[in-house]
Amino acid sequence: VIEHGQPEHSVITTCAYCGVGCSFRAEMKGEQVVRMVPDKNGGANHGHSCVKGRFAWGYATHRDRITTPMIRKSIHDPWQEVSWEEAITYAASELKRIQAKHGRNSIGAITSSRCTNEETYLVQKLVRAAFGNNNVDTCARVCHSPTGYGLKQTLGESAGTQTFDSIMKSDVIMVIGANPTDGHPVFGSQMKRRLREGAKLIIADPRAIDLVSGPHVKADYHLKLRPGTNVALITALAHVVVTEGLVDEAFVRERCEWDSYQYWSEFVAQPEHSPEAMQDVIGVPAQDLRAAARLYATGGNAAIYYGLGVTEHSQGSTMVMGIANLAMATGNIGREGVGVNPLRGQNNVQGACDMGSFPHEFPGYRHVSDDTTRALFEAAWGRPLDKEPGLRIPNMLDFAIHGSFKALYCEGEDIAQSDPNTQHVTQALSSMECVIVQDLFLNETAMYAHVFLPGCSFLEKNGTFTNAERRISPVRRVMTPKNGYEDWQITAMLSEALGYPMPYRHASEILDEIARLTPTFHGVSFKKLEEMGSIQWPCNEEHPNGTPIMHVDEFVRGKGRFMITEYVPTSERVNEKYPLILTTGRILSQYNVGAQTRRTDNVTWHPEDMVEIHPHDAEDRGIKDGDWVGITSRAGNTVLRAKITERVQPGVIYTTFHHPESGANVITTDNSDWATNCPEFKVTAVQVTRVSQL
Ligand code: SF4
Repeated sequence: VIEHGQPEHSVITTCAYCGVGCSFRAEMKGEQVVRMVPDKNGGANHGHSCVKGRFAWGYATHRDRITTPMIRKSIHDPWQEVSWEEAITYAASELKRIQAKHGRNSIGAITSSRCTNEETYLVQKLVRAAFGNNNVDTCARVCHSPTGYGLKQTLGESAGTQTFDSIMKSDVIMVIGANPTDGHPVFGSQMKRRLREGAKLIIADPRAIDLVSGPHVKADYHLKLRPGTNVALITALAHVVVTEGLVDEAFVRERCEWDSYQYWSEFVAQPEHSPEAMQDVIGVPAQDLRAAARLYATGGNAAIYYGLGVTEHSQGSTMVMGIANLAMATGNIGREGVGVNPLRGQNNVQGACDMGSFPHEFPGYRHVSDDTTRALFEAAWGRPLDKEPGLRIPNMLDFAIHGSFKALYCEGEDIAQSDPNTQHVTQALSSMECVIVQDLFLNETAMYAHVFLPGCSFLEKNGTFTNAERRISPVRRVMTPKNGYEDWQITAMLSEALGYPMPYRHASEILDEIARLTPTFHGVSFKKLEEMGSIQWPCNEEHPNGTPIMHVDEFVRGKGRFMITEYVPTSERVNEKYPLILTTGRILSQYNVGAQTRRTDNVTWHPEDMVEIHPHDAEDRGIKDGDWVGITSRAGNTVLRAKITERVQPGVIYTTFHHPESGANVITTDNSDWATNCPEFKVTAVQVTRVSQL
């Protein structure tokens, strides 16, 4: 723990790690952080914190920080340090040259859920107004894009329905494909408090997460399903609810489209969707499926919390809709203690999606083909805008290899480590004529870059993050940017060099523009955040102080819509050559690709990624605890150290992806969700063999 004497002043800001969005008081001595103290008034954390937000901020001043812009003509050349003016001029001239040579759609941008709302908004504005296309995407593509799609289809809004505090009114908590005590620790602790008070717990997860039988809590049901069978499971639970008369018919008649309910209920009631018919597919005994469904439907206020174990599948969007179906059918939506709650991975996944960093949507989830919306933005931005949706990240990569996508501006995102099938990603990056990376560190993607624009950390910038409960919280600058500029200023400089000036003087002016153009943000401003601390959107004329619980009297889309959830097995099948399934996740002390946490003392708690193997599978292969093992998939191979444990079921292995040398994404394939292209990180067929020595 780094502490540097007595603080002289303090500033309230928001953690830059996970989607809980904890509020902290940065205690400062001059430009030096003395310590980060969780804020008792924090709307999401009420004075609590975890080991990441509390201790893992040292990366901001780490010696690996790059603070001077760099360019190079070829990725084989050494980097040359240059002035900001030279770097921006070079980047802009390359983008113009490439568009002139390969066409308007040959360039695009990827923004990150680590960025503030204001930064993300500016990147999509840059693409739409200055690039003249819609080729903008965000790393939400690879995590929660199915949430956006599935909740919009069923409930009408691409966001979670509750406030975190709502869980204190839950009688039954169902956790599907999430690991709150590691992934969302402060909320995980709140969940444990409610469980200790007597709430019942159902967990659907292929692996025994801590909540299954951790200290002081024990799941009532652990549905240890096979990876890739989520949709079969949710449909079997729905079958029980419908066929055993557990539907809240009054709620459905009043609040939902009755036709869609009838169609859906007939579908799930079919005998082939019963627990007995599906138990062998799912890998969970029928009696456990029936008991869990009865508990969820009849146990009082029932809330569902889910994570990437739901979304990162070829049927991720279908599963999100299945969860919404179940909540609507049982009347578990629209009040405290219930709801459909996606646990967003990164600090600003919700915000990145809200801000229109998708190739088909303007800020506020409005389609680019909608003439009224386009006219609104054209008038505000003074440029004609493209009505055709742009390229998603996987399309950009494919077209880089096989088409005319030739330049990428990538802000705060390390696609060469975080995206699936690393070989494909690096081949695509190598095929581009210009890659511009804006980041704190020379990350894996920067290995393929021609321009490096040094970014700054959350401690050096102003803006806002939006957490998993739609809570917009202020990010306040506590130290001078080491690179000289906040990230939004760098985007604005690039835009100006492209002939489209963005004359903002402060991030607050960007938020004001967002508020003017986005109905759910009409009432949001820095001034309001100063007064209230944080605000949950929608915040507008109708809800001037925000909206903790959504869909209270009616759904955002009017009536809730049930959607059919036909289970389609993933094409990623096990066979003799690849007999095991690899699934991936996170650990408490580390964060995603580890770019930040690996540069803090937290790394000592998790110095390497390991692969968990069930004792039976280990014994079959002569593998002992701590052995190095080779893992081979259809995409590639890597080597990891084995950890033998019954946390995983036979036939399934599990690893984290926090260290680049682990190569977890070298072996994941580019299968993806049918609706959103979210990669199927959670199901990769593999073989594991012992390797004698590294
Ligand atoms: Fe930061 Fe999440 Fe930990 Fe809160 S729970 S301190 S937001 S990492």
